[in-house]
Amino acid sequence: MAKNEDVKKGVIFSAGEKNEAYAKYFVGQSFLKNLVSDPAVNVGVGNVTFEPGCRNNWHIHHDGYQILLVTGGEGWYQEEGQKARKLHPGDVVVTHDGIKHWHGATKDSWFSHIAITAGKPEWLEAVTDEEYSKLEDR
Ligand code: MN
Repeated sequence: MAKNEDVKKGVIFSAGEKNEAYAKYFVGQSFLKNLVSDPAVNVGVGNVTFEPGCRNNWHIHHDGYQILLVTGGEGWYQEEGQKARKLHPGDVVVTHDGIKHWHGATKDSWFSHIAITAGKPEWLEAVTDEEYSKLEDR
């Protein structure tokens, strides 16, 4: 049984629906609930929930930034050339313009974060199983 199964039902905010729109940029199943739909607001605010082992591809937020507010479970955040950072509820991650990175669940836990995103994402290669599996060895 995976850790933090309760996260899949949503923590504070609804987990939303299967994240079909971005599925091609993820390994594994994620869920997305858009929290702000206001044409006068130029940042995206979404609750993203990851099943165990699910992570997004390497990507860059161009002409903007991203703030992750961790709400549930256990996850990872990694910038290119840096060690991966393990994430827990209450953690805050700021990704600056142009930084290549990925985020997602640990292999045995559900994970959720609120993502506040400005600018335009550039989606790159997947985080391979080889790279991902090494994370748990530390
Ligand atoms: Mn990101």
